[in-house]
Amino acid sequence: MKPIDPLLRQIVEAVSERGIRTHLEQLVEPRDPFEGHASMEAAADTIAETLRGFDLQFVEERFRCEGRWYRNLIALHQGSSRNGQVLIIAHYDTVPNSPGADDNASGVAGLLEVAGTLARHRFTHDLLFIAFPLEEYGNPGSMYYVEQAKASGAPIAGVFDLEMIGYTGPTQAVPPGIQAPAVGDFIGVVGNRRSEGLVALFKEAAVLVAPSLPVQGLVVEGNGENVPLVRQSDHAPFWDAGYPAVMITDTAFLRNPHYHLPTDTLDTLNLHFLWQVAATTAASAALLAGFA
Ligand SMILES: [Zn+2]
Repeated sequence: MKPIDPLLRQIVEAVSERGIRTHLEQLVEPRDPFEGHASMEAAADTIAETLRGFDLQFVEERFRCEGRWYRNLIALHQGSSRNGQVLIIAHYDTVPNSPGADDNASGVAGLLEVAGTLARHRFTHDLLFIAFPLEEYGNPGSMYYVEQAKASGAPIAGVFDLEMIGYTGPTQAVPPGIQAPAVGDFIGVVGNRRSEGLVALFKEAAVLVAPSLPVQGLVVEGNGENVPLVRQSDHAPFWDAGYPAVMITDTAFLRNPHYHLPTDTLDTLNLHFLWQVAATTAASAALLAGFA
């Protein structure tokens, strides 16, 4: 590690691989809104209980979709100035018949570990930790959240969307027109032009706190309309509303052969990699929120 701010060091040292494993063990099983509905709701209860345990202000934002109610789970760590917001988000649903370890228990576990760590420090900006349902079904949860945020003039300074952050593999598919390594050992950080600063911040944070983590940044034009797969997560509604947001991802089906299958299980994950990504996310969010 390079010499870093002692507060940043404290944060990184508090992010724990063991904590991440514990969160994963509570979450990994089918959590789709159909056959997996009960376990999706149980996962929501678990996430809510964990966030409440961190002594954050917790609210559930309920919205209706196709005749049923769903919950966005929101924990607020109030900042000293309240003139900016930093969001860390992840979706907690799955497709049917997949236990969704990488997609996206990995992202939720990272979010919970980062929340527990950052809750113990004071920041200038507000920090919000948000778990959304129904990402796999067109993002109505994050769309609903963004509508309310926009209407109330929420001063969102940046969004970190944890979308599959636990898988590494020997091979990496790369779509035409995109440059990336052929080995699947890096974490991808995808932004649009407005979010270029967040991509750079994440890279800088990785150099400080997880120097052996390869980070591959990608900045797309517009809101990623020309590369539809870069829009496939809950950051897209934030882009569309004009907020800076990045998707942090192991690149999903471009790397992980278990994507959306019954074999997306905990034993296929690389927990050290997941820890590196969580530590870098915690550091990035802390730097953006500013120590108070
Ligand atoms: Zn996903």
